[in-house]
Amino acid sequence: MIFDLHCDTIWKISEREEKGEYVSLVSNDLCVDQEKLLNGNFFAMCFAIYIPNKYENPFERCVHGIDVYYDRLAKCDKIAPVLSFSDFEKNRELGKISSVLTMEDGCPIGKDLSKLDYLYDRGVRMICLLHNLVNEIGYPNYGKYNEKGVPDYVTPNPNQGLTDFGVQLVQAMNEKGIVIDVSHLSDGGFYDVIKYSKKPIMASHSNARAVCGSIRNLTDDMLYKLADNGGATGMNYAKGFMSSKGDGDQTVKWVIEHVKYIKNLIGIDHVALGSDFDGVSPDIELSDASKMGLLVKGLDRAGFTTTEIEKVCYKNALRVFKANLK
Ligand SMILES: [Zn+2]
Repeated sequence: MIFDLHCDTIWKISEREEKGEYVSLVSNDLCVDQEKLLNGNFFAMCFAIYIPNKYENPFERCVHGIDVYYDRLAKCDKIAPVLSFSDFEKNRELGKISSVLTMEDGCPIGKDLSKLDYLYDRGVRMICLLHNLVNEIGYPNYGKYNEKGVPDYVTPNPNQGLTDFGVQLVQAMNEKGIVIDVSHLSDGGFYDVIKYSKKPIMASHSNARAVCGSIRNLTDDMLYKLADNGGATGMNYAKGFMSSKGDGDQTVKWVIEHVKYIKNLIGIDHVALGSDFDGVSPDIELSDASKMGLLVKGLDRAGFTTTEIEKVCYKNALRVFKANLK
């Protein structure tokens, strides 16, 4: 079974809706739909609300994204939402795949904690504190941008951490039972989250920086801290985050390389899956959610035990949700 910590399918569906096309979640031409999740033997999928920078009112756009999510979900008879931790098991017993509503930027919250209450009430259970731009919470991975505003993907951002509001938000998320997601957060922000979070955290879609040097990935020291915290990091299938050798489209090989590396460094309990389907280019070996059997077979052939494969594929992710959700 597969628990995937990140996909951008709802964003893709919203973008197409804006062009006047209704895209369903039952069956579509994207990387994730009910059919593909069933074929990929999914236990759970995290659906992120991603807010592109072009929107002046990110909160309004976020509410719209949530409306789109529930509209599409209501038509799927084999997917059901998770609001409490016990819903994972209830859904499984009913033969349904669990769906977790998440966010890929905390910018809709602004500096207003009452917005967090609203998002919780609408079912958001994990929030990636920010995306590629500065917000009221903190700073992104990228330490350097060129004159066109494009990050160099190499220079990290170790000094800029969480803002005072960011620290308050971390504490509020711990109390409410929302998982804190540190993918996209600056290295400085990561260490602040480690310092202030009383619960295990998630890096929903980030790999090992020692294997592939992109600063979207975690350094060895960050992985040590993640292990101490009891958290987990989800392997991101984006070519450029898998390998810096130009062969990052060989997803199975490279997920195995990252998993092996992380296992040797901090143990198998802190590595999970976070595909980034419909956020990254699909011209990769694991081109959509139905292909996950290839990865399971690959892990088996690479010598991972059944227990280890289960931990990577869904149990580690589930443990972090158990530690956070009510
Ligand atoms: Zn992302």
